[in-house]
Amino acid sequence: MGRIRKIKKNNNMKKYSNLILLLIAFLFLKMEIKAQNAECATDLIHNNLMQTDSAYRNKSLVLESEIESIIKNQATKKFTSTIYTIPVVVHVIHLGEALGTASNISDIQIQQAITGLNNRFRNVNGLGVDVELEFCLASKDPSGNSTNGIKRVNGSTVPNYSVTGITPTGNPCSGAVETTIKDLSRWPVSDYYNIWVVSKICNGGFVGYASYPVGGLYDGLVIVSTSMTGTSGTLPHEVGHGFYLYHTFNGDGGNVYCPVDTNCLINGDRVCDTPPHKQGDCGTTNPCTSTALWDKSRFNYMSYCPLVNRFTQGQKDRIRATAIVAPRLSLLTSVGCGPVGINEINSNNMFSIFPNPAQSEINLKSDIKLLGSSYVVYDNTGKTILKGKITSENTIIELGNLSGGIYLISVGENLKQTFKVIKE
Ligand SMILES: [Zn+2]
Repeated sequence: MGRIRKIKKNNNMKKYSNLILLLIAFLFLKMEIKAQNAECATDLIHNNLMQTDSAYRNKSLVLESEIESIIKNQATKKFTSTIYTIPVVVHVIHLGEALGTASNISDIQIQQAITGLNNRFRNVNGLGVDVELEFCLASKDPSGNSTNGIKRVNGSTVPNYSVTGITPTGNPCSGAVETTIKDLSRWPVSDYYNIWVVSKICNGGFVGYASYPVGGLYDGLVIVSTSMTGTSGTLPHEVGHGFYLYHTFNGDGGNVYCPVDTNCLINGDRVCDTPPHKQGDCGTTNPCTSTALWDKSRFNYMSYCPLVNRFTQGQKDRIRATAIVAPRLSLLTSVGCGPVGINEINSNNMFSIFPNPAQSEINLKSDIKLLGSSYVVYDNTGKTILKGKITSENTIIELGNLSGGIYLISVGENLKQTFKVIKE
């Protein structure tokens, strides 16, 4: 009897353990789905700041109305022949590993990540639109010295960083304080788009997040080292946020309902050619709407769908509108990727240049003490295009014959101050 009961008990245990295994598998599946849904922390942070920080909220709303009016006026259309180039600095906040291992990722991996980012923004696969905006690793640091655009700092001494990684400001997860990590290495946000590569975010809860373009010392993008690769969709997704793109499912209440779609310029993701959907809807039909081309959302870099491969014209308009207003505008005239050896003196206001971008001429305003000094206009390869003397407090430099693009103008004694100018 005792033995039979034991066998029965064993059989029951086997049944139970099978059930437990099934339950574990189910939970694991649930966790995977959840992890995918929670991959980007941008909205969590943004929503929190919108509720708790009135200055942030105001800046965000002002910028939103500026962008809306630029898009309405189609002001971005006239810039479409100009490729914007954004200087980038990548700060690797590693855990003391050897260069090229674990979170201390190699220079080559970072360069491939920037190339992958550019391929996506420039629509190399041909599936979306060419945003005509690209990124360059800085060649010149804030002091004017040569750089490869990559900075490395051992962050393991910052409390909690080794174990749980960075904690985005306003996020309840435990980990190293975001500003302490960013203070280890950051460059002026007016001249460089800052990317911090970290070991973990919220103990592995997220793979990246970016600041919407409201400025500030800590403006930029945070990404885990394993997602900073040439093939990852995370980097273009987060940079998209950095240029004020929302998720294609914005306004779905956390995958609960279809986003409101009364006015596509102010509802949902505020982009008209990306049909609104729920975060989890990525199948062959969109349960929320049949208008607009569904592929433009479900294969969009700004969705959470598994296969992403495109930005749309509407997103391009929004990115480019964002690029030509503060705080991103100053990046277009940064000399962070310019030739080394020409020193820009940022704190020196002896010269100013306007308008920028310019159409046929540039006004160079200068201090009266500097009359008689020279100016030189270079193209973006460093070739001299024009030269002249500063003969009045407002010198006009004719750009009429030059083709559209980016030029550098060096001015003053020893040509010490350099401006980056966009000719439309
Ligand atoms: Zn996101």
